[in-house]
Amino acid sequence: MARFDLTGIGMTSQRTRDRLVGRLRERGIVNEDVLHAIASTPRHIFIDEALAHRAYEDTALPIGHGQTISQPFVVALMTQVLLDRPRARVLELGTGSGYQTAILASLCERVFTIERVEPLISRAEARLRAMSIKNVTMRHADGFDGWPRTTAFDGIMVTAAPRTVPETLLEQLAVGGRMVLPVGDGGVQELRVIDRGEEGFSERVVDHVRFVPLLKGVRTH
Ligand code: SAH
Repeated sequence: MARFDLTGIGMTSQRTRDRLVGRLRERGIVNEDVLHAIASTPRHIFIDEALAHRAYEDTALPIGHGQTISQPFVVALMTQVLLDRPRARVLELGTGSGYQTAILASLCERVFTIERVEPLISRAEARLRAMSIKNVTMRHADGFDGWPRTTAFDGIMVTAAPRTVPETLLEQLAVGGRMVLPVGDGGVQELRVIDRGEEGFSERVVDHVRFVPLLKGVRTH
């Protein structure tokens, strides 16, 4: 597809991507599968052309509609924390550019992703199609409602911050499942990990992060 440059030329070269991976290693990412996924996923196609030359910097970048593509370190960290062991069915809230979705798709059997802003999800869908990613199901909806009428998820990742942990998402987590999400209403939120065991839920804070808020309702433009 001509719209997306999937090749490895110039700024998108393997060397540039390897440099990013080196930085992620320095910052404590140790899961080789996650590092491999970052090295082999072309982040530049998830960013507007005008900013594509900055695609392999370890920084968040605007993607329109007041939203951002997450910083690669945060993507790697959340993925590493979620995938402490293989998780077949994963739900993501906040598709945004689709970059985190693509990373999860390369590491999990099936990914379900929800985005409230329609133009973002249709662009993300086109990108994943161009990359021939086939194990992702997308939905334009309010993530606060979770994914209705389906079996529980082995993993849930939320890439926008709710003020408190949404009850619906806890209900949709399988026993043995893990959820990773930022929680808080200020500029800086706690990155929390919630595990569901036979006896109930356990929770801990792994880091502090900055995400846009998880908002109620949907937008069609
Ligand atoms: N994971 C994305 C980063 C997305 S930024 C990436 O890699 O590019 C957070 C996204 O969450 C935004 O696109 C925003 O529109 C979306 N969002 C916010 N509230 C939401 C909700 N209630 N349901 C679904 N998506 C939501």
